[in-house]
Amino acid sequence: MKTGIYSFFAALCFSLIFKPFIFAAERKYETEALNLLTELVPYRTVAGNGQVIPMANVIVKRFEDAGFPDEDIHLIPMYEDTAGLVVRLKGSDSSEKPVVFMGHMDIVDAKPSEWELDPFVVSEVNGKLIGRGVADNKDAISLFVTTMIRLKKEGVVPKRDLVLVLSGDEETGAKTTKELYTTYRHLTDAEFAFNSDAGGGNYDENGKAVSFGIEVAEKASMNLKLTATNSGGHSSAPRDDNAIYELADALVKLGKYKFPVRYNEMTLDYFRENAKQSSGEMAAAMRAFANNPTDERAANGIEQFPEIKGFIRTTCVATMLSGGNAPSALARKAEATVNCRIYPGVSVEDVKSQIRDVIGNPAIEISDLNIPEYTPGASDMIPAAYDVIKKAVQAQHPHVEPLPYMAAYTTDAKVTRSLGIPTYGVYGVYYGVGDGNSHGLNENITKQYFYDALDYWYIVMSEL
Ligand SMILES: [Zn+2]
Repeated sequence: MKTGIYSFFAALCFSLIFKPFIFAAERKYETEALNLLTELVPYRTVAGNGQVIPMANVIVKRFEDAGFPDEDIHLIPMYEDTAGLVVRLKGSDSSEKPVVFMGHMDIVDAKPSEWELDPFVVSEVNGKLIGRGVADNKDAISLFVTTMIRLKKEGVVPKRDLVLVLSGDEETGAKTTKELYTTYRHLTDAEFAFNSDAGGGNYDENGKAVSFGIEVAEKASMNLKLTATNSGGHSSAPRDDNAIYELADALVKLGKYKFPVRYNEMTLDYFRENAKQSSGEMAAAMRAFANNPTDERAANGIEQFPEIKGFIRTTCVATMLSGGNAPSALARKAEATVNCRIYPGVSVEDVKSQIRDVIGNPAIEISDLNIPEYTPGASDMIPAAYDVIKKAVQAQHPHVEPLPYMAAYTTDAKVTRSLGIPTYGVYGVYYGVGDGNSHGLNENITKQYFYDALDYWYIVMSEL
């Protein structure tokens, strides 16, 4: 056992001699990460705009300058103007399967006229970084690239190969993603993948880290059009058949319908843990369901809370409505858009046939606006993946227990999961209150949390 005084001196020496260097190194990489983000945001990498490849070249140049060999850098042009990018940091043990780090280079467009600041420049206001892509997903790209380069420069060799895989059209079709994990599977195969486009931590309004979610499943989003048609006529001679009433009747039935309850161990754990961390009626409802998920009353209890009701079933809701052609004419057509969020593992056809049955009126035409692919069930938690995330999270926030959960949106993970790569959404930048707003106006993150994520990824990558 070390004597107290030895430990004291060891600690003192460490803090006096090594720490300043560590801090200097970290600050250097903080600047590098922010510089890269600042360089990436001006590329308007919207579908069809031809900017993905020029932006990918900026990233490639960073890796080349850091001494990554050409054979480990693969910029793959695809679908006319977009691309996938794969960069490998070789590990020491080729018998261990690689780990993939996932991100996407494209963005949802932003209209400069609607933003308070230019969306294609990184602005810093009161400690926040603002710009399109700073929260989704160019921040994560900057952090990955900087951390891989840091490992290389410091001579840290992980056991497994670390493979950065960036897709070029996550926001639109994820066709590049599919290519990357099928045609180019020899470059992207992995035991599991860490996805920067989902999951992550939150701070509460007092600046305390309160949670960290590991996204292990996703709900698919489906849009359907419901159309009622009629021969029309004069409104002075109404008839029983009426497009507006028939559509309204269908929507009321659909509004009251509840899809079958679904859950898995992850749902129950999530409810249990969240119930521990909060109080009130919602916590009680989560606890009741976790205790007995087959109890109908417990399921109905969850139903009272819009923010969690989607955790236990597929949901569909009418979101748009139109119909009729003149105030004094019987409508010839009435239409509604219905958005469904499909539970992982449930087929699109199954949901559509339930809707048809509920409406019970074959005269209502149900057509597809967008049909998602089947979303696979939850990724099983591989201990090696969970342990490294837990370690990295708790290095910064010892009281935070990472929890698996299901997202109501989809990312590239729908592709990797369905192709057999367990995928965990573990985005590293924590959100404070009001942070994020990806796809929306004034997308932003807190600069300090961006820097903190650099340490988080450093621990994850070096621990692998
Ligand atoms: Zn994204």
